[in-house]
Amino acid sequence: MIPTSGYAAFDARSPLKPFPFDRRDPGPADVQIDILFCGVCHSDLHTVKSDWGPTTYPCVPGHEIVGRVAKVGREVKKFKEGDLAGVGCLVDSDRTCPECRAGLEQYCDNKVFTYNSPDKHLPGKTTYGGYSTGIVVDQAFVLRVSEKLNPAAAAPLLCAGITTYSPMRHWKVTKGQTVGVVGLGGLGHMGLKFAHAFGARTVLFTTSPDKTADAKRLGADEVVISKDPDAMAKQSGQFDFILNTVAAPHNLDPFLSALKRDGTMVLVGAPATPHPSPGVFGLIFKRRSLAGSLIGGLPETQEMLDFCAERGITADVEVIPMQRINEAYDRMVKSDVKYRFSIDLASLKK
Ligand code: NAP
Ligand code: ZN
Repeated sequence: MIPTSGYAAFDARSPLKPFPFDRRDPGPADVQIDILFCGVCHSDLHTVKSDWGPTTYPCVPGHEIVGRVAKVGREVKKFKEGDLAGVGCLVDSDRTCPECRAGLEQYCDNKVFTYNSPDKHLPGKTTYGGYSTGIVVDQAFVLRVSEKLNPAAAAPLLCAGITTYSPMRHWKVTKGQTVGVVGLGGLGHMGLKFAHAFGARTVLFTTSPDKTADAKRLGADEVVISKDPDAMAKQSGQFDFILNTVAAPHNLDPFLSALKRDGTMVLVGAPATPHPSPGVFGLIFKRRSLAGSLIGGLPETQEMLDFCAERGITADVEVIPMQRINEAYDRMVKSDVKYRFSIDLASLKK
């Protein structure tokens, strides 16, 4: 076993605390990674708080992992010691169902999340994530990360990046379209970067007027304050596609009204309690769609990482030591994230 230092939640209310534990020794198909940086996703906080149902404690969150390969099993050909590697929200799936065969492992019914899932390798145990000094993952769920990218800023691509890239690719966001992104946090700021990179006219909907200048720097052509009913009314019928990243329940109708005929709003934000149900007429009178999307599969995550390396796209990060995680969570609750925290795991290795 490999002694590992981590930070864990021990219940839904207390601050995260240091937690030493063991990783399995790498098997023939495994990659052992020394973690350099791990992004802080709002999903980590939802899970720590048992927002989505009972969490198994202790819970070591973290699914935006970038590190260096420390050791590989004898069957591993894709990676060698010293390579930069990434791990996202998934560490396994059944690999046989139609979803897995289509490279859409995120929709497999037997997927294994990077944390808070039953651990196939350690029966009776739970998977532990990237708020830790190292991880051991089957090679099929490890991504290649270009040396061209800053590892602290690349880590959030593994969740915030793919969660915004995947729906924009699926719904074919392209030049000539008008695309809205709702909420400027970790996901939202990646959404602005991708919509802009795909050539769309990009509009941010935000509840925080003080984020306007940043939004424009990140790729927004225009910023709409979503709390202002007059400003929202002016958007009616303008949008081909809207990506809604908000982590709290809110009225969806003003955003649905902003869609053109046949426009789609995709929900990626996953609040603890449901949104009020949208009005039916807002949908049927313009054949609009309301949809959802979950992270992305392994092939598309690699495609996104390669696209980012080619285009020089990474997250805007505030690097923190592990010891400041509870403060980071407090700021996340107040929508005060500029625009992703990235934990430097060197802070646990001293
Ligand atoms: P985040 O960094 O906290 O950003 C969320 C943003 O939503 C905030 O910055 C804020 O933007 C806006 N917001 C927050 N509370 C609001 C409220 N009460 N009313 C209106 N707007 C509000 O969170 P994140 O890491 O980007 O994650 C966002 C959500 O996506 C979370 O629920 C997370 O669990 C979920 N998620 C889903 C997937 C998936 O696969 N579908 C993957 C990752 C995360 P403004 O200040 O601009 O208004
Ligand atoms: Zn996430």
